[in-house]
Amino acid sequence: MVDPTIRGLRVKHLAIAVVLLAPAGLAAKAPNPAQAMVSAADPRAAAAGVEMLRAGGSAMDAVAATVLALTVVEPQSSGIGGGGLLVYQKTGGRVPATFDGREKAPMAATEALFLDAAGKPLPRGVAIPGGKSVGVPGNVAMLKLAHAKYGKLPWATLFGPATRLARGGYDVTPRLASAIAGSATTLARQPAAAALFLHADGTPKTAGEHIVNEALALTFEAVAAGGPAAFYAGANAAALVAAVDHAPTNPSTMTIADMAAYRAKERAPVCGAYRTYRVCSMGPPSAGGTAVVAMLGQLQGFDLAALGKDSPVAWHLFAESERLAFADRAAYGGDRDFVDVPVAGLTDPAYLRARAKLISATGVIAHAVPGQPKGAKPRIAPESGEIPSTSDIAVADAAGNVASLTSTVEGGFGSSLVAGGYILNNELTDFDFVPEVGGAKVANRVEGGKRPRSSMSPAIVYDKNGKVVLAVGAAGGPTIPAQVAKAIVAVIDWHLSVQDAIALPLIFTNDDTLVLEKGPFFAAMETALRAMGHATVQYPLGLKANGIERVRGGWRGGADPRSEGVALGL
Ligand code: GLU
Repeated sequence: MVDPTIRGLRVKHLAIAVVLLAPAGLAAKAPNPAQAMVSAADPRAAAAGVEMLRAGGSAMDAVAATVLALTVVEPQSSGIGGGGLLVYQKTGGRVPATFDGREKAPMAATEALFLDAAGKPLPRGVAIPGGKSVGVPGNVAMLKLAHAKYGKLPWATLFGPATRLARGGYDVTPRLASAIAGSATTLARQPAAAALFLHADGTPKTAGEHIVNEALALTFEAVAAGGPAAFYAGANAAALVAAVDHAPTNPSTMTIADMAAYRAKERAPVCGAYRTYRVCSMGPPSAGGTAVVAMLGQLQGFDLAALGKDSPVAWHLFAESERLAFADRAAYGGDRDFVDVPVAGLTDPAYLRARAKLISATGVIAHAVPGQPKGAKPRIAPESGEIPSTSDIAVADAAGNVASLTSTVEGGFGSSLVAGGYILNNELTDFDFVPEVGGAKVANRVEGGKRPRSSMSPAIVYDKNGKVVLAVGAAGGPTIPAQVAKAIVAVIDWHLSVQDAIALPLIFTNDDTLVLEKGPFFAAMETALRAMGHATVQYPLGLKANGIERVRGGWRGGADPRSEGVALGL
């Protein structure tokens, strides 16, 4: 819920395009369409993006200012100490540019990184805190690479709102407060994090308290003036490497050379058809975009529109498609710079039609196993659990440029280490800990200089004329591709607004049990789903999506009622 008392939030002059107090499934009152729009997980971050748009900036400028501001106000989820993936469509174009700012493992990391002395995988709770889980952050390099192509405002201008928020301070929201309370013991072990988020007596800061982060303001000023070099070299690089290598727990082997060697990359997008639309998202190292395209491709042959959103059969089909896509994701997903990821095979319409034949409207697939797409080499990759965090931003500017960016520090507060006022990620625990299964190398095993597989799936949807009609993305680890596919199905087949599509509950599954988002919507379907043969459990999924859609006369936004997010238009 948005705290109306949040200090420093100036939204009076903005049309608040989405009111986020409606329970899941209920429509917020539709406001007039906006000419430009920013949807983000925090109102102060969304306002930072709007400030760029007002100053004549592009969607690129707005998305950058928003993610920089999230570093300050949503430190538990994303920021410059983490990585991100950006899908960007320049006005008039039909194929997006996609930018990879995923973190990289230090060169000295080996596949034994998360194994104990006996060669057994470490429990995640042991592997995450401290330096070893920290990858070289990618966001600053990615923003610079994309901004050089698509930015209109000067680079330094992007840092204005975030620097003001860090220096002037910001109020702790209820969601941040509960994240602090949940991680208080870990934060207490890391002095720089404790200084920011805990009181002197070690008790967690609570909602409404004010946090000033001067160290972060100084980091922003340095990077605003010096560009990525001020982040990847010099004092910041030295401070970051010192923080991870001298971490009180799990010291890392990261070097100044690892920082200096980091490069963001422009990658080929992953695209596929759904009904008369085309959906594009991020390719490897994300397995998320491929999974979204695969899920939708497999659902093409089923008339979900006729079944409707309240049909257990529709959700059964959705869940079966998810299970198949996730079996492939686990087997083949990884960093394309290190392993062959058969993206073309995995998204080939003929392959997806064949996979869809495994789905029956009346019975369940006993055990979903990976397929054999063209170009596949047999591999096994066990899935490890992930902790929901991350942040998505969707932006359209008045010229029609559209940005869809998902950024993360991986788990809540990442590694809990802080350098230069920002939280350092724990992205390396997105690698599979076990490097080899039954003699077969795991695609997503740890290797020096490699990017861990991601689920992040920032997506853009085009109509049959090639016009962007929707941008959507989500946070929540492996639930991300399912959230994105669900939102797309709900908008296209069920004609929901992007707001209602995001609010609609979700079924998540990456094995043989369906996790039904807790609440009346799926409680009413559970018996029917069980009768079809599904094992089910009801659970409150930690979901968080953001999106924008083109409507007659402009843009409408959607932000997750499960979050503190908003969509602001102008
Ligand atoms: N690190 C995860 C990924 O890149 C996202 C984590 C989350 O959303 O909780 O897939």
